[in-house]
Formats: sequence, structure tokens, C-alpha cells
Amino acid sequence: MNQYKLLTPGPLTTTSSVKEEMLSDRCTWDNDYKNITQKIRAKLLELAGGDRKEYTTVLMQGSGTFAVEAVMNSAISNDDKVLIITNGAYGERIVKIAKYIGLAFKEYSVAYDEYPNEEEIRSILKEDSDITHIVMVHCETTTGILNPIGMISKLSKEFRKTFIVDAMSSFGGMEIDVHELSIDYLISSANKCIQGVPGFGFVIASIEKLIACEGNSRSLSFDLYDQWKEMNTDGKWRFTSPTHTVAAFAKALDELDEEGGIPARFARYQNNNRILRERLGKLGFHAYITDEKQSPIITTFLFPKESFQFEDFYDYVKDRGFVLYPGKLTDVNTFRIGNIGEIYEEDIQTLCNVIEKYMGVTVK
Ligand SMILES: *Cc1c(COP(=O)(O)O)cnc(C)c1O
Repeated sequence: MNQYKLLTPGPLTTTSSVKEEMLSDRCTWDNDYKNITQKIRAKLLELAGGDRKEYTTVLMQGSGTFAVEAVMNSAISNDDKVLIITNGAYGERIVKIAKYIGLAFKEYSVAYDEYPNEEEIRSILKEDSDITHIVMVHCETTTGILNPIGMISKLSKEFRKTFIVDAMSSFGGMEIDVHELSIDYLISSANKCIQGVPGFGFVIASIEKLIACEGNSRSLSFDLYDQWKEMNTDGKWRFTSPTHTVAAFAKALDELDEEGGIPARFARYQNNNRILRERLGKLGFHAYITDEKQSPIITTFLFPKESFQFEDFYDYVKDRGFVLYPGKLTDVNTFRIGNIGEIYEEDIQTLCNVIEKYMGVTVK
């Protein structure tokens, strides 16, 4: 099989040592394994800045969306109403989840390249006192826009709402303090910035809020409360857990520490992203999101000219060792390049050299 690096928003390129952890088979009933789960839960809490008296971690089988669905299904009762703030496909997916479950919700959406407006949200919250919860995506992976969670957090506190954040593609790559931001549920998954392999998602949850979720769930598998109750006893998952993925994730957490924690990882990602945008900008590729709203995670680029053939470009770059990501916008032609995972400045420089060659440009 051809070896290439993934410049996508996950699954990502991971280290050999993370992958090697999956060479052993582990028993879900055994204390060694349950201790791995407990260690992961404690470490995630620490990374999120959560005090163990106030917050807890719940791991949930499945991809990231499963964890989002578990939160929506468990945290929002039939008496509640949720305000869903959207400016991209992942926010829209939360709307879809709400429709499937039959939740009372209001969607507030803005254009994909814009921030939600503080005054507009304020007036929604003033007018609709039925709203009990607010949910939003932090880094909208659709475009790479980094949404202002600080502003939403402020409103959420002011109006005393329960605050849910899909930080799937940003947690581990950027500092997010659940206590400071009064986040009640922070959701992410194994195969994003912690640099593990796919198989489970996780939720950092306010213990007080989670306890109040008992009996809310409309389904067995997506019951976050029940999952927590079982896991919190001694680290045993309800139902079969993705043992290989969990072991790899524990190793990925160690490697995050060895790198220097979230600040060091953030600096590496930010540097990757800066070089990528600068060099591609010179080659005529312009980013869809303006600099001040751009995340250090993934960038959406507009096609450089009418005649640009993405499939041809994709194959050319893939043959030279890098896999890119197609765009997800309907109104403009775009593609995406992620810069998270086991990706360093040299990789980005090599990629830019390849693209420069493709574009037939010789000047740097
Ligand atoms: C990756 C991602 C998800 C989850 O996607 P899955 O394919 O279910 O893992 C959710 N929200 C955002 C913002 C993401 O980047």
C-alpha cells in the first residue's frame, strides 16, 4: 500500500508508536485495561481545566457524531428547548440530530464565513424564555472558521443556560478551559487533535448537570448518564469498548505531554497553518476564511482559476505523498487542507513545493 500523509481533519496521520499499541489484545474486564480508561478520563479532565469535584469525563463508543448525539439525547429533556447556533455543516448536523430525536429547538444560522452576531443572539434569548440550552461548534471543520466561544459563553452565563460545545476538531490543539468558559458539555473524539485513531468520542461534563440527566435518554446506547454511571465505578465501559483504540489513545496522550502539552501542539499547528496559507497565497490559492477568523486546524482554499481541476490536482499531490480533502461548500468551488496530526513544518514545506510544481511556478 502506498504510504501517504493525511492532510485531513481526521482520521489523521499518527505516530508509529501510537499504532504499535494496537498490537496487543486487551480484556475489558481486566484491571489493567480498566485502569487505562480511568487514566484517560483523568487526563482529559486535566487538559480541559476541569476540577474533578465539578467535572467528569465520559467516553462513548463510535465516531464523534455519536458522542454529540449522546449529549443532545441525554442533556436535553422533553421539557427543554435548545438554541443551535450554526455556520457550517457540523452545526447543521446537530440540527439534524435534534430533528431525529424530536427535541424542541431553534436554529440561529449565519453565513459560513461569518461569526454569529452577539446582539441577535441576545435578542433571541430575551424573546424566547423557553430556551434552556445553547449548543455550538467551536472550530467549524466545514470551512476552518474558529467560532467565538468566549462571546457565546458570556451570553450563556448571563442568561443562565446550559452550554454545549462541539470542540471536536479543536480540543487538544488549542487551550479550552471548561471552567473559565462555563462549558457544561465539551465534546471531542479520539482521532482529532489528541492524535489517536478512530473509535470513540468523549465528553467533559459538569457533574451537577449530568446527574440531572437521569432518565432523559430516549435510547439505550446513547444514554450518556448511564454510560457515566457504569464507567465511573471502576473504568468499565457499558458494552464492548474499542480496546485497541483506547490503548492507542492512552499512548497518544503521553505523547501530547512529551511534546509539551497543548501549548506546544498549538504552536506547531499554528506554524503549519501559517506557512501553508502564506505559501499557497503566493501561488494564487486564497483562503475562504479571513485571517482573523481562521483556525490553526484546517483551511478552505478557493480554486485558483476557473479551469482548475481538483481531481487531477488531488491525484498529482497524492502520488507525491499527501492526501488532501475536498470542499464542502455548495456555492463556491473549494478544497481543504488540514494541518493537524503528526505533521511538521517540513511536511508543509514539501507539500507546498509539490503544489508549486503543479502550478508550474518557479519563483518562491
Ligand atoms: C470530525 C467532526 C465531528 C465528528 O465527525 P465524525 O465523522 O462523526 O467523527 C463533529 N464535529 C466537528 C466540528 C468535527 O470536526
